[in-house]
Amino acid sequence: MAAKIDTILEAAREHARAVILPDVDAWNAARKWPRAASDKAAAAGLTGLYAPEEWGGQGLPLAEGIRVYEELGRGDGAYAFALSMHNICTFAVCGYGTDAFKEKWARDLTAGRKLANFSLTEPQSGSDAVTMYSRATINGDGTWTINGKKAWVSLAGEADVYLTVVKTSDQPGHGDMAMIAIPKDTPGLSFGPLYDTPSYNFLPLAEMFLDNVTVSEENIILPVGQGLQGALMAIDIARVSIASGCCGLMQAALDTALSYAKNRKMFGTTNLKLDGIQWMLGEVATELEASRHLYRAAAAALGTPEGPLMAAHAKRFVPDAAVKAATTCTQVLGGSGLLRQYGLDRLTDLAQMLRIVDGTTEVSRVVIGRALQKRARDLPDLPVPRGYGEA
Ligand SMILES: Cc1cc2nc3c(=O)[nH]c(=O)nc-3n(C[C@H](O)[C@H](O)[C@H](O)COP(=O)(O)OP(=O)(O)OC[C@H]3O[C@@H](n4cnc5c(N)ncnc54)[C@H](O)[C@@H]3O)c2cc1C
Repeated sequence: MAAKIDTILEAAREHARAVILPDVDAWNAARKWPRAASDKAAAAGLTGLYAPEEWGGQGLPLAEGIRVYEELGRGDGAYAFALSMHNICTFAVCGYGTDAFKEKWARDLTAGRKLANFSLTEPQSGSDAVTMYSRATINGDGTWTINGKKAWVSLAGEADVYLTVVKTSDQPGHGDMAMIAIPKDTPGLSFGPLYDTPSYNFLPLAEMFLDNVTVSEENIILPVGQGLQGALMAIDIARVSIASGCCGLMQAALDTALSYAKNRKMFGTTNLKLDGIQWMLGEVATELEASRHLYRAAAAALGTPEGPLMAAHAKRFVPDAAVKAATTCTQVLGGSGLLRQYGLDRLTDLAQMLRIVDGTTEVSRVVIGRALQKRARDLPDLPVPRGYGEA
């Protein structure tokens, strides 16, 4: 009998081939989340990957489930990203939600009848997540009343519930942050106009306004004091998921270039038989292999002390490699690489977007830089030459 992960990976591959690729251009033109497609993803078991079976999930370990986005990324990286965020939120609800909230939401989320997203970013605080203003007041009856504004909310207006990070006092810092689930139909919750993006237009992105939004304490996902720490754990999973999706994107770009180059006649031979073209595509192939190993090692490290650093390595290296792969493959097609019909413009836009979302490549470099400084502290001192100064 095939292992569960093999069945799920096959389902994801088929979903990319039969559901995403034939229609993604139409979804972008329609500028609307393809709910019928995500319903099919749900029916294929792709919406409760890490949630326990008792709540209707697949119960896969992160190290296995994250490979799904490599398959979906061959279809479209933004679609893979949105489903990855839904899966991470569903995992959080099942792992940390109150019993009452789980009873109300968990099975609908794992079954994909309801979609979830995560809301941390604000207009003034992206990388600098601590500079947050959205504020919850905890009322005498235990309910929370939230005011504020979130930015870059994916699945804006489409998701049924938003796991939102808020402050609970006027104290600076993150010691008072919490994460609370806000259902879409809660009075006072609204969305701004959709952002106008160069591609991935089917993914609704907008600001989210919280105007005296009151929710029950049952909706607390992470209590006061754990909001930012929990959000960063979620972001580590998201970073590795993005690296996984980028590998699918690189494979799609490489396969497009190979399919074209083997037929393009030039100089009495074909484009693919030119050494220079083989070197260009060979570099893409090597970086794809390296990226695959890196994200899978990072996925295996999640939940261990090495998890955050490995996730940073994956998020730093792989999206950059994907940008390079998409532009190299475009170049290999010459002028044809710019034609919409080959889809390399879409892959290039997606790769750039994936460098930014869930912590930019620069923020990953900051995480890596801190780890290097820590390592340096534990290493023996090497004397610096006289006159060079000392730290
Ligand atoms: C398509 C898309 C979907 C998104 N979906 C969501 C979502 O669903 N929920 C959510 O909460 N957020 C979401 N985001 C927000 C995303 O996580 C932020 O855009 C990201 O964290 C960067 O923040 P920023 O855009 O404010 O950039 P800024 O923080 O303003 O960064 C500007 C530049 O400064 C660089 N920088 C930052 N810190 C340093 C440093 N220490 N040293 C050097 N350079 C630095 C950055 O790398 C970047 O190049 C989404 C973003 C995109 C593009």
